[in-house]
Amino acid sequence: MTTVLWREGWLKPLSTESLPIDTCAICKKGFKNLDFITSCEFCLVGLSHQSCCNDHITKDHTEQLNNKINKHKEKRLHSYQ
Ligand SMILES: [Zn+2]
Ligand SMILES: [Zn+2]
Repeated sequence: MTTVLWREGWLKPLSTESLPIDTCAICKKGFKNLDFITSCEFCLVGLSHQSCCNDHITKDHTEQLNNKINKHKEKRLHSYQ
């Protein structure tokens, strides 16, 4: 079975001046124009690039992720979502 991870699709533009930090908490590189950023839902690591956060979650939160996957197993995502 292949499990994919759905993220809400809306984008919220923010200026880096309004952020508490302007560097990624995971790779420590500065945010560039139009970088996708997010925060980890499992810990308080801070703001990071979306791709950094994805790697962080699959590496550092394997257990929480598996729990979540098991919890949602019965629910099917409809193709219109
Ligand atoms: Zn990063
Ligand atoms: Zn985390």
